[in-house]
Amino acid sequence: MQNFSQTTRLAPSPTGGLHLGNARSLFLCWALARKLGWRVLLRSEDLDRERCDTDAEKAIFEELRWLGMDWDEAPTRQSERSEAYRNALAALETQGAIFACERSRKELQAAAEAAGAPHGSGTTVRSTPAMRPDDRARFQFLAGERNHRLVISEGTDVIHDQLLGTREFDVSELFGDPIIWTRNDAASYQFAVVVDDLQQQVTDVVRGDDLFPSAALQTRIATMLNGTPPNWWHLPLLLDANGRRLSKRDNDPTLGSLRASQVTAERIIGLIAKTCDVQSDLAPMSTVDFLAAFDPAHLRVWAQSTSAAGGDRLCHADLEWLLESKS
Ligand code: GLU
Repeated sequence: MQNFSQTTRLAPSPTGGLHLGNARSLFLCWALARKLGWRVLLRSEDLDRERCDTDAEKAIFEELRWLGMDWDEAPTRQSERSEAYRNALAALETQGAIFACERSRKELQAAAEAAGAPHGSGTTVRSTPAMRPDDRARFQFLAGERNHRLVISEGTDVIHDQLLGTREFDVSELFGDPIIWTRNDAASYQFAVVVDDLQQQVTDVVRGDDLFPSAALQTRIATMLNGTPPNWWHLPLLLDANGRRLSKRDNDPTLGSLRASQVTAERIIGLIAKTCDVQSDLAPMSTVDFLAAFDPAHLRVWAQSTSAAGGDRLCHADLEWLLESKS
């Protein structure tokens, strides 16, 4: 068995097909790992039972292989790991760090509005210290249909990202006391991802920069679990021609739909390569050629300038090029 000193993971959520932005982030994670000799794990983040389905998971795994990606161990599924999450929850309970939140989302929204947040302002619905139960004895897990939240102390955290540099986050302001166990009796994403990364000894997390603030919360949770947080590598997101993030919900082209239109994997990789400066022109590229041309040091230069420019846009011509030749 190969000996790896570092480990990363591909962690798609099977809530629909992968769009080009998801594909780019996953592909760059994999390429970085293969260039730097890291172990690659594949994890299906399928906790949201209402939105995830096994067909979507199967399609995603298949599409990753189609792009030439591989992984070093059998894939894992978050839906099969509730015992590990429960054990980690028990460790936090022992610290008196969790409480059953009596308030519904509506009540929290009303409290936020009463505190001055305009209605429908899009502010995160969150519990704040003032909403915690007073009685420390109630800081425990109470089985039943309630959300459980993690007590987050106030203070600014400095997070270093391998690509984007150092940023400060006010975790309590951003996340309040986040839900770690939902009323549906399942771990939340923010909690499960930390437990998995720690248990799977993930040393390097590579993902879209929409999750950069989450790195601050996840660092807190990892520390509370006596673990070492991973190195973070946040990649600029791919935007559409109007500067909007690609998303599953907005019917942006998925790998599945492009593939059904006979677009080749080499064209998808060629487009990814062009968008992150691995090649200067739009030309089909094989996975092997991508790896040969890919320079992890240059990824940092590209990520910083792209992030400073607010992301990079996929223009109509790029999509037309993808579809123009089906060879
Ligand atoms: N499952 C998340 C997603 O598909 C990624 C989470 C992570 O990389 O930490 O957006």
